[in-house]
Amino acid sequence: MQGRRTATIGAAITATLALAVAPVWTDASRQQKGHCGGDHRKSAKNVIVLQGDGMATAQRDLIRLVTQGNTPDKELVMDRLEHSGLVHTDPADPDEAVTDSAAAATAFSTGYKSFNGAIGVDAQGRARPTLLEDARKMGKATGLVTTSQVTDATPAAYAAHIDDRAKQSEIAEQYLESSKPDVILGGGEDYWFPAGTEGGHPDHPATDPTEESKGTQGNLVEQAQQLGYRYVKDRAGLREARGRKVLGLFANEEMFEHRPEGEGDLYDPLVPLPEMAQKALDLLSSDRDGLFVLIEEEAIDEMAHENNAGLMIKSGEQLDKTVAVAVEWARRHPGTLIVVQGDHETGGLTIENPDDEDESGEELSKEDGPFTVKGTDLQVFADWTTGGHTGADTPITASGPGSERFDGVIDNTDVHHAIERAMRRR
Ligand SMILES: [Zn+2]
Repeated sequence: MQGRRTATIGAAITATLALAVAPVWTDASRQQKGHCGGDHRKSAKNVIVLQGDGMATAQRDLIRLVTQGNTPDKELVMDRLEHSGLVHTDPADPDEAVTDSAAAATAFSTGYKSFNGAIGVDAQGRARPTLLEDARKMGKATGLVTTSQVTDATPAAYAAHIDDRAKQSEIAEQYLESSKPDVILGGGEDYWFPAGTEGGHPDHPATDPTEESKGTQGNLVEQAQQLGYRYVKDRAGLREARGRKVLGLFANEEMFEHRPEGEGDLYDPLVPLPEMAQKALDLLSSDRDGLFVLIEEEAIDEMAHENNAGLMIKSGEQLDKTVAVAVEWARRHPGTLIVVQGDHETGGLTIENPDDEDESGEELSKEDGPFTVKGTDLQVFADWTTGGHTGADTPITASGPGSERFDGVIDNTDVHHAIERAMRRR
């Protein structure tokens, strides 16, 4: 472990030295991939972390093939970022070798590996400072944006410290009383309102009658308003929102319905992820010290759990449009580090040619498709091998100051160190 980290630091130093004598823009292939302005030696004033939950190589490729095509000029925006690496996702869990989103996000946010379910605490249960908290200490504006519950594992691990990801009302309370993200946008209002208080979205909706308010810490939306947050519950409200502190809760639970195809599955968020991201960046961009924003597309993971490739692709396309929003914002705000990552692979996904003899599995090897490769007559099948997470590495791509630190095969804790150093470098 220590040896690998030292090797990674060594590689990063070598990369930095190499850049000093060979500017990145002289490399034709890199230039074609887009560049980050050659400002590697400056600090990252702004950090935008974009996560496709459950997104590994096959997910990125299936999204690319179906939404863009299969020729080199048809890349996803996320695949055009200048630097790239592979990330090991192993947790430090006593019982399981494959990570969940909580342990993975804790590794990204704190630099400490932990047990599955852990939120911002190390393997011994000790609270460790997160990237968002460190950014706030540096004076930066901070934000959490997700299509999941705003208190779900990934955003929670950046702004809370608790031993169990299920304690979502306690996590919301910690946002208000301790980590204080300026902008909080996503779903999950049921953990902010106590039972019997419907809130902005009615209990027991037709799309999922089991949903109802179940907050355990009182009316946290009222508390947020008393603390100066502007509370909004729909697209029009978010459009009109002004000021720095905004709490937007756009669904009872996730902002989509994750089910098998044709069984009530739905991906049509009340506010599309690119729009939430754009608004968060607009609200936070007035801070002269910069910003740190975590933006997550959760449906990639949840649809993969259901082996629903159609909506996994649809949500992945929205994530890529959100990366485009971040890239455009960074073009107007120099000194912005953009990182696109997945926390683990979900579904054991592979991409296959149609094959009548192979397209039989429904239990252990579920064939899902066909999907047309955009711009061609070619068809592919998604082949799922599990409804759970797998231990495969996840790709990471990055641009902007410090992005060279993500090159190579790295550990998920190295992602934390790289962002921390990029923010601190002067
Ligand atoms: Zn999952």
